[in-house]
Amino acid sequence: MRFSLKNNLLIPQKHDSLPISQIAHIPQPQQNLNFAFNRELQQLLTGKQLLLDDLPLPFEEIQTHYEHGYVTYRKGIEFNGKRPICTRCGNKDPHWFASFPCSRCDEICLYCRYCLMMGRISACTPLIGWNGPAPNIGLPPNILEWQGNLSEGQTTASNRVVEVIKQNKELLVWAVCGAGKTEVLFAGVEVALAAGKRVCIATPRTDVVLELTPRLKAAFPKITVASLYGGSEDRHLFAPLTIATTHQLLRFYHAFDAMILDEVDAFPYTVEESLQYAAIQARKPVSSMVYLTATPNQKWQKECRAGKRPFTTIPARFHRHPLPVPQFIWCGNWQKLLQKNKLPANILKWIKQRIESNKQVLIFFPHIPLMEKALPILRQFSPTIEAVHAEDPNRKEKVQKMRAKEIPLLLTTTILERGVTFPNIDVAVVGAEDSIFTESALVQISGRAGRSAAFPDGVVTFFHYGKTDEMLKARRQIVTMNREGIEKGLIDV
Ligand SMILES: [Zn+2]
Ligand SMILES: [Zn+2]
Repeated sequence: MRFSLKNNLLIPQKHDSLPISQIAHIPQPQQNLNFAFNRELQQLLTGKQLLLDDLPLPFEEIQTHYEHGYVTYRKGIEFNGKRPICTRCGNKDPHWFASFPCSRCDEICLYCRYCLMMGRISACTPLIGWNGPAPNIGLPPNILEWQGNLSEGQTTASNRVVEVIKQNKELLVWAVCGAGKTEVLFAGVEVALAAGKRVCIATPRTDVVLELTPRLKAAFPKITVASLYGGSEDRHLFAPLTIATTHQLLRFYHAFDAMILDEVDAFPYTVEESLQYAAIQARKPVSSMVYLTATPNQKWQKECRAGKRPFTTIPARFHRHPLPVPQFIWCGNWQKLLQKNKLPANILKWIKQRIESNKQVLIFFPHIPLMEKALPILRQFSPTIEAVHAEDPNRKEKVQKMRAKEIPLLLTTTILERGVTFPNIDVAVVGAEDSIFTESALVQISGRAGRSAAFPDGVVTFFHYGKTDEMLKARRQIVTMNREGIEKGLIDV
């Protein structure tokens, strides 16, 4: 859009005007306390940064709210000299910008391709926000209605989370796979809500949002919960508690007093700088940040050890048994054998033993073609063996069948490295030396075994053609956590 400056106000007009990004300073009018603002707009805009197209209201009404000091305009694209920066996603890579003939400013207009899926941000786009009071949130007498108990390890972490949320600080909760990290948040979320704070739980994966939403709704039954992912219906819902994919955070600005980032190490958060930028933008300048993960990256682990990053561990599972420690078995050049439609004898023996004793198995392969070559070979043991990968249209169905014990053995890529629980399985990795199997992936994979209290043990075997550092680091991390769990009295020995 084009604006001109009049009486220290931005006024939209076609002539004698500039696209918003070319206006040096955007004036922010003082709030007119006698102005009767639109409550619907207040709900839509509080803590947000939206495009005109996102708002179901005429522009004239938004402009009136701006003139009375209740709406803010920010430039969709800022320029650092000649270099553009997308205000919404933080993209500054010139390759991710393009130009188009724009009907809103009648110029060739620069836009950000990086966050295009959330609606186009161009050099003439005002990012619209709220500058008035936040909507009132009525609180029920009982906020948290969860009846469960925390384990000793969970209690320690839960107390730390409460303190950090009260004091607007940062904390990493490093909880082993199967420790029960969601429950550790409940007391902190309750304290935040009771203080009138807005809380967000964000995670890179939609699956996790869908899994967390009913659990949080059950724990906080009288609190409005907004559940946000691509295509969700809660997009315009103003809520004290928001559960969102990290992508959805791109629509928020200075919204949350308490931000909780779950699975910070999971794809795509780790690889996409824009999502980290979004998480920071979505926080209020004074706010708390809690990171949750079972597998912090090397940098974070080092910072923890050096005392530079505040953290707390939950080194043991709720059922008080140690984590299964992976065993390493050399299997020679398995890829070469696979080209001849064979698998190493020790792998076949390992699998055969389990099929014969009716123990369910999850086997990880580094790449889809290799896995698909192995499938017909393994079907000699049982015709119901299946393989699954990210693009598999029957992915959910196969995982369901595995849960129902209709499949004795499921071959998979790293897609099932996290987020799935089968009660009683053994786990193997074929080709653990492959670079796709990072320390974090291998810890997560090992974490699939022994999760249920009824079957706390499980065998984890890494078949390899040469040990890697990542394999050693993964095993060391698991052994260290078990030792810590024993020392703290959280594991029964
Ligand atoms: Zn334009
Ligand atoms: Zn962008």
